[in-house]
Amino acid sequence: MYFVKIFDWLENHIKLIKLISIPLILLLITLISLIVHLTEGHWLHLMYIPVILGGIIYGFWGGLISGVTGSIAISPLIHSHTDAQGLKAVTDWIEHAGSFSFIGLFIGIFAGNARRYMLRTKWEAVHDKPTGLPNRLSLEKEVEELLDTKDPDKHHYTIIAIIKNSRELESAFGPEVVNSMIGQLAGRLSTVLKESIKVYRTHFDQIGILVKNCNQNKIEELLKKLESRFYDAFEFEDIRLHGDIFMGIFKFDQINNISSYYLQKASSAAVKAIKSNKRYFIMTMSEALQTSAENLKLMGDVKEALDKEQIYFHFQPKINLSTGKLHGFEALMRWDHPVYGYIPPAKFIPRAEESTLIHRLTFYTIDKGLAQLLKWNDKGIKDIRLAVNISTQNLADPDFTKKVIHLLDLYGIDGKYLELEITENSFMGDIDKEIPALKSLSDAGIILSIDDFGTGYSSLLYLKQLPVSAVKIDQAFVKYLPEDNDSVHIVREAIRLAHILDMEVVAEGVETRESLEFLKQEKCDLAQGYYICHPLPVAEIEEIYNKNKGKFVE
Ligand code: C2E
Ligand code: CA
Ligand code: CA
Repeated sequence: MYFVKIFDWLENHIKLIKLISIPLILLLITLISLIVHLTEGHWLHLMYIPVILGGIIYGFWGGLISGVTGSIAISPLIHSHTDAQGLKAVTDWIEHAGSFSFIGLFIGIFAGNARRYMLRTKWEAVHDKPTGLPNRLSLEKEVEELLDTKDPDKHHYTIIAIIKNSRELESAFGPEVVNSMIGQLAGRLSTVLKESIKVYRTHFDQIGILVKNCNQNKIEELLKKLESRFYDAFEFEDIRLHGDIFMGIFKFDQINNISSYYLQKASSAAVKAIKSNKRYFIMTMSEALQTSAENLKLMGDVKEALDKEQIYFHFQPKINLSTGKLHGFEALMRWDHPVYGYIPPAKFIPRAEESTLIHRLTFYTIDKGLAQLLKWNDKGIKDIRLAVNISTQNLADPDFTKKVIHLLDLYGIDGKYLELEITENSFMGDIDKEIPALKSLSDAGIILSIDDFGTGYSSLLYLKQLPVSAVKIDQAFVKYLPEDNDSVHIVREAIRLAHILDMEVVAEGVETRESLEFLKQEKCDLAQGYYICHPLPVAEIEEIYNKNKGKFVE
């Protein structure tokens, strides 16, 4: 390893070394010839030093020239190197001159070959032999050397282009056809790329590119240009062949992972492009989270976030429409990931639901929510209900009710102040299984409500088989009230039927005054939404509460 590093260092400075070495070797030869003269030939063998150096640094010719120069320096015409006289002196000199020249020549040939071998091995490690293009490792190195972009409009992009029909082509013509296509494709793409952007062969049927510090418009422009180079037929042994080429692009602005990650993401974007039959697909950092490997890591991160209490809550008020007063708060989970930034609950909760992690998340929410409810009670914000979202997976836990009751007891809070929201879609299957768990919760006085009502296909009559006492009409129907006729019809019917069934109705996603007025007129019980108040941190909620004396809308 050290040897390779030393070799790399020498290779990188070879021009300078060669330049300095000429006067150095000449100086050494002169000095040594003087020493040889003064010591009457005792230190003659020192002359091998500049001769060997010449061979190592300059190869064949360097070794030979150093050998000959060293020989001339000690020749009887310049310096006699021994005390021998006449013919003996000349034959001695010829013997030594031959030996210097031979050693110089030999070392020169050996060093030259060794250097060429090292360079070749080094080149092969970072290049693709058949095409001569730099390989995947080279691209990873280039990614590794990236400095983080600070400009928010600029990003880096790894691009992978895949020849989709490479296997078919290979089985018909052999692997050379793909090598040839890759070479031609790289040549074509280079014509539209800036000189500083290299094309790499990242896999048998893939090429890769790294575009640094680019903005969205420019990259789209570039992708169109690259794409235009896909269509011309490829030539192989006088046959014209079609390449089915797709591109995957990974957009990122910080390096916080191993460099192979950035290529792997571009490859999975290319697979997406193939699946959706689009010429290219751009994947962002947050989209990359959806892949399964990331998924596992993300779940690990959720665990850590729970341990470190990095998951926190925003609370969104629900108001009583007839009085305008605060009715309660829904606890909504928030997570600022140390690397990916804010991750919305809709991104990590469905994944947590696929594992037992959802149990921890739910109890964490109930625990923190009830603790907050107690704090509010102490501050005089009393008689309000805390709503927590739960999953059907929670209901499958035989100890769920027991654990919830235990928490209520721990905080000394009555069950009627806790509401558990369960989405309508989770009841699409066999509800018989959920009934016992829901019944035991309801028996403990806990309020159960159906969330996102209207998004599934179940009727309220069907849902009334469950011991639920409230229904939340989904935002999709509330948002466009009162302009949208379908919404008006659905919401009106839902309120009417819910009241007949003795259920409380909540409208969520109230974004306008008109929507609020319509709901009031239709005798909807409760409302929640941005028009009333966004989900906010505790301090901000309390500030609004205190300023408006408990009212969130006029
Ligand atoms: P959800 O239960 O339907 O929550 C309501 C979502 O609508 C929240 O999104 C809220 O911020 C948003 N919202 C509120 N008012 C308005 C409005 O007027 N207009 C619009 N456009 N949106 C509004 P959020 O906080 O991103 O939560 C998304 C979902 O994540 C929630 O949907 C819920 O299903 C889930 N979730 C959040 N926290 C938890 C939790 O602690 N546990 C579980 N199991 N799920 C949670
Ligand atoms: Ca909810
Ligand atoms: Ca909802």
